[in-house]
Amino acid sequence: MAKPDYIICLECESEVGDFTWRDGEVRRAVCEVCGNSDADAFSLPEEFDQDVDEDEEEAEYVEDYDDFEDEEEEE
Ligand SMILES: [Zn+2]
Repeated sequence: MAKPDYIICLECESEVGDFTWRDGEVRRAVCEVCGNSDADAFSLPEEFDQDVDEDEEEAEYVEDYDDFEDEEEEE
């Protein structure tokens, strides 16, 4: 398995780009946001995505709605 560009801190859900990757798994990582340094408490982006899919779709919908409102005000 190739090294990912970043991993996800399971404590605060931040993206962490500074970590040690070996033999297909995280060996060492430190989250700069919450200070988590337990390699087991990080997840790969593709594994974590499945949990956050619903939240991302909701955020996109809100953005589209804001654009629609702006257009109406101009007319
Ligand atoms: Zn963190």
